[in-house]
Amino acid sequence: MMIPFGNLKRHYETYRHEFDEALQSVLDSGWFVLGKAGEKFENEFAAYCGAKHAVGVGSGTEAIHLSLMALNIGVGDEVLTVANTCVPTVSAISVTGATPVLVDVDTESFTMVADDLARKISRNTKAIIPVHMYGQAADLDPIFDIANLHGIPVVEDAAQAHGTKYKGRKIGSISTMTCFSFYPSKNLGCFGDGGCITTSDDTIAERLRMLRNYGQRERYYHSIKGFNSRLDEIQAALLSAKLKHLDHWNERRRSIARYYRENITSTLVQHPREMEYGDHIFHLYVVRVLAREAFQKRLQQLGVGTMIHYPVPIHLQASYKDLEYKKGDFPVSEQLADSVLSLPMFPELTDDEVAKICSSVNSVV
Ligand SMILES: *Cc1c(COP(=O)(O)O)cnc(C)c1O
Repeated sequence: MMIPFGNLKRHYETYRHEFDEALQSVLDSGWFVLGKAGEKFENEFAAYCGAKHAVGVGSGTEAIHLSLMALNIGVGDEVLTVANTCVPTVSAISVTGATPVLVDVDTESFTMVADDLARKISRNTKAIIPVHMYGQAADLDPIFDIANLHGIPVVEDAAQAHGTKYKGRKIGSISTMTCFSFYPSKNLGCFGDGGCITTSDDTIAERLRMLRNYGQRERYYHSIKGFNSRLDEIQAALLSAKLKHLDHWNERRRSIARYYRENITSTLVQHPREMEYGDHIFHLYVVRVLAREAFQKRLQQLGVGTMIHYPVPIHLQASYKDLEYKKGDFPVSEQLADSVLSLPMFPELTDDEVAKICSSVNSVV
């Protein structure tokens, strides 16, 4: 019997009744875009994060793109982010016309390092995007010190960090703008694409609401140039139903992570570290192994599905050749890309499955 890396079917089946009810309520309402369900979810998610506003948008990528638009970022500007992230963080920068400038990550937290960030700041730097990788917060204070010194805004990529804490504060309540994705497999995911930006700044919230809706404040009166990036009512209603369970799901992920840490004893495996400054929500449980390809293949034979997040760092992706980086420019991100392996991690994994994953990993020689 195969233990899958993820299983959204099992997730749906566990909560079928609640999810069906949420879906049906929108179908019955006859209203599908920018309505009561969207507003309700935005209020609930803002409250969950401890922010004044949440603005629902079409995806996590769009959340970052719109945030940069709200800051008037475009051609000639530079935006700093990490080499060890998934491509959408960087797509959102390039689509504005700005140039992504990459920063290496820390060997322990896998997130942005302040020293390298400080070196990369230039006259053209208009925003800094730390990524809360795998569910763990980046060490934000040293990043804010540098950002504040230069007057550069921080936009957080929290696509993997719904419920993550940094020094006791929820991610989503700290920076001027924090971007979330509700892609189905995220800790809080919808049944299609979705995303949002949290902010406690009224002016920015209003600007984001116009940007996502053709630049209009009032129907057919367009005060700025925007486009269409909205969280629809069906997704919003489903997300409201799911948000009630998020803390419980994150707690289950943390307990699976604890079990992995205690029971995977193989010397071939390096466990992820939970930094003292925050609460990790284990969007992914990412170990580092030697001879990864063989390791992954063996686990597959033993019936354990795994994935690699991510096999190629941004600067070595074909689509970002134009940034003119080369191999060796981001040593930590490159080492991670060559050695990381994500074990199954989702709340509906059974205790038996978790135990079997541990014994399978331990048996790889
Ligand atoms: C998922 C993800 C995104 C993109 O979100 P989408 O909703 O798929 O557009 C961006 N950044 C990170 C770190 C992600 O994990």
